[in-house]
Amino acid sequence: MSMPAAEMPWPETSSPESGFDPEDWSEFAKLAHRAVDDMVAYLSAIGEQPAWRPVPEATKQLLRGPAPEAGIGLEAAYDEVLEHVVPYPTGNIHPRFWSWVGGTGTPQAWLADIVISALNACNLGFDEMASTYVELQLIDWLKALFGMPDDASGLIVSGGSMANLVGLTVARNVKAGYDVRALGVDPARAPLVFYASSETHSSVRKAVELLGLGTRALRIVPVRRDFTIDLPALEEAIAADRAAGSQPAGLIANAGTVNTGATDPLERLAEISEREGLWLHVDGAFGAMAKASTLAREQVAGLEHADSLAFDLHKWMYQQYDIGCALVRHRQAHFDSFNVTPAYLRKMARGLASGPTDFSAYGVQLSRSAKALRAWLTIRSEGLGKFRALVDQNIRQARYLSARVEHEADLELLAPTALNIVNFRYAPAGIADEPLNEVNREILMALHTRGIATPSSTEIDGRFSIRVAICNHRSRRADFDALVASVLEIGRQLLMI
Ligand SMILES: *Cc1c(COP(=O)(O)O)cnc(C)c1O
Repeated sequence: MSMPAAEMPWPETSSPESGFDPEDWSEFAKLAHRAVDDMVAYLSAIGEQPAWRPVPEATKQLLRGPAPEAGIGLEAAYDEVLEHVVPYPTGNIHPRFWSWVGGTGTPQAWLADIVISALNACNLGFDEMASTYVELQLIDWLKALFGMPDDASGLIVSGGSMANLVGLTVARNVKAGYDVRALGVDPARAPLVFYASSETHSSVRKAVELLGLGTRALRIVPVRRDFTIDLPALEEAIAADRAAGSQPAGLIANAGTVNTGATDPLERLAEISEREGLWLHVDGAFGAMAKASTLAREQVAGLEHADSLAFDLHKWMYQQYDIGCALVRHRQAHFDSFNVTPAYLRKMARGLASGPTDFSAYGVQLSRSAKALRAWLTIRSEGLGKFRALVDQNIRQARYLSARVEHEADLELLAPTALNIVNFRYAPAGIADEPLNEVNREILMALHTRGIATPSSTEIDGRFSIRVAICNHRSRRADFDALVASVLEIGRQLLMI
């Protein structure tokens, strides 16, 4: 039944069609296997590499300039990646990486990433497919781990910042008492106020700003000597705001502050929230995992009272970036804060669009990757018991390092070590804070540039601190011995003593 081309009622069909798939999948497989072998060789010997090294000029040169019109081919491009990208990572895969709150990643999650990328799921939640159920089960596991009720809702997000935004959005909408989604923040009404300690993470401020409340809605409460929120100051602030005609709306509690790992008294904050009618949002970015430990679980008692809980899986759950989670006690309020269903996203009774939920009704994103499989595969293969053991191990390492610091006359601990973060400095007797700040800044940069170790820095009571945050399952006690020895050695070189 072929018609002469000239008579066809559709555009010409002779132009060749193609895609990104290789002509020869077996050639692709060879390269992919080589990539796996390369990465296994790299990762299994990572401890022998420097903890950090600078990105060379040749690499920066390569990574400038316009996109090629014709590609150089996969093998050549992969070789460029091997030469120019792989040797210069952040280094959180290294046993002596302790910057910020960086997690190591796991080989199990890496395997999951191969699958995630191949399947390339949209993970909308109303697409009926297996990784939707993977995410729902992971959320259930996390609810159980942190003591949240079975009917709480949750969402896998990019990280703690997004999880804080999600939790605080629900808090604002519930506590406003009017339809904020329709009206926006209404300047004619009593301003909403949220309370958080001065040690609270910057992403909370960002969230409050994004929610249209303005930084003035964030009442910063001072901390005590142990860096936990000062309760009398909090109660005074709440009373003062009420007296001034503002509306206290929510309390943001820290389970593990980013600077020192301090945890606010969660039981007391839950009581105050209850009594004052405040939403209790807990930022447990990494500290929530103390709940899984045997050594520090008491510190986060009360976590389970949270109306919303934000935490990361890429920090103290060791998963590959980026993955975090928001849990909300009040499912309906969570849904009501984000749900929008246009015609093109309607669910069907059967078929692909008949999935069990709609993840976009619980957060900002619509299309999302199936990253839940990372944590699912790590938990499924290794068990939660492994996580408990490793969190305990990191706490023991932090205590070990703290004890070593206290034992050295020339080192000084700058904050109590509550969980997995140690703050210390090189401080021989008789030197003032100002020069010590300078010396310790130099020590930190030397640790990095000599490839010895990568702690980060912060300021504790105006003092420059070498800050060691241990979310690293590759660190061993000897790594901390090496850190102590190097800090002493570099410090003495710098001061020429
Ligand atoms: C890291 C961190 C955040 C932000 O999390 P991201 O995953 O980096 O977005 C928020 N709060 C605390 C306490 C953190 O440590």
